[in-house]
Amino acid sequence: MRIGVDLGGTKIEVIALSDQGDELFRKRIAAPRGSYPDTLAAIKNLVDDAERATEQRGSVGVGIPGTLSPFTGKVKNANSVWLNGHSLDKDLSALLQREVRVANDANCMAVSEATDGAGAGKAMVLALILGTGCGSGIVINGKPHSGANGIGGEWGHNMLPWLDEEEQQAAKATPCYCGKYGCVEQFVSGTGLCDDYERRSGNRLKGDEIVRLAEQGDVIAEQSMQAYERRLAKALAAYLNILDPDVVVLAGGVCNIERLYHNVPKLLNEYVFGHECATEIKKALHGDSSGVRGAAWLWPLENP
Ligand SMILES: [Zn+2]
Repeated sequence: MRIGVDLGGTKIEVIALSDQGDELFRKRIAAPRGSYPDTLAAIKNLVDDAERATEQRGSVGVGIPGTLSPFTGKVKNANSVWLNGHSLDKDLSALLQREVRVANDANCMAVSEATDGAGAGKAMVLALILGTGCGSGIVINGKPHSGANGIGGEWGHNMLPWLDEEEQQAAKATPCYCGKYGCVEQFVSGTGLCDDYERRSGNRLKGDEIVRLAEQGDVIAEQSMQAYERRLAKALAAYLNILDPDVVVLAGGVCNIERLYHNVPKLLNEYVFGHECATEIKKALHGDSSGVRGAAWLWPLENP
C-alpha cells in the first residue's frame, strides 16, 4: 500500500492507494498554519488514520509547496513559510519510522499523471499547472526530475519569449513577485489571463467569466483568449525546444478551458524549431486528486 500526503497551505490531504491505484482511504483536514511541529503531528495522525482504517502499513510520500534544497537538505521556496528551513523528510522519517519521500507538489502532479493518468506509458511527461500561479513538473521514466538546484520545471520564472509590443509594455509595467520582469507566470497563469482582460477592459473578472464572455462573442474577451493562447504556445514552444517531452499534461484551473486543446497545438507550429510539432497536449486525468496521488506514487510499483 502507498500513502500519499498533499501538504497545502490551507489543507492537508492523505490518500492510500492499492498497487492497482485504487483509492483505499482518503481524508482532508485544515492545515495547522504557522507551526512546524503541529504540521508534523498532523501528518503523523493522518498516516495513522489511513493505516488503522486499511489495517495495512504503507510507504509514505509527501508533496509540498517548495522543494528540498540539494545544498542544505532543508525545505526552501515554500509559500507555507513555516516549512522553510526544516529537514521535513528526515523529521517525518524519524516520526513515522520509515523512509519518507518528499517532492515538490507540481512534481507530484506530474508523477501521478505519468503513472496512471493522461501521460501513462510515456517515458517523458511534462505537466504544466496553470492556476493562480504557474508551475510545472518533469517526470522521466516515472521519477520526478527536481534537478541539481532543486528548480527543475520552474518555467514560470523564465521570460516570455518572442514578445510582441503589447507584451513588452505589460512586461515593463509590473515586476513579478520573484523580482524579474516579463515572467511566463505573469502571462500564462490564470491570474495572467485576468490581468490581460483587465488591461484591455478596465474590469477585473474571473477566468471562467472571461471564457464565457468569449463564447458569447464578446470582442474584448475573445482578444484576451487569443492573446492567452498565443502566449501559452510561445512559452510552451520554448520548453519543447529544450526538453521535447513525449506528452504535455495540463492541470490547474486553466486546464478546464476546452478551446486550448484545439487552438494551442496549431499555434505551436509557428514557434517550435522546424515548424513541425505533433506533441500531444492532454488534460490531467485525475484533476485535483493528482497532487496527493502523485505523492503516493513517489514510491513506484517496481520499488514498493
Ligand atoms: Zn517571476
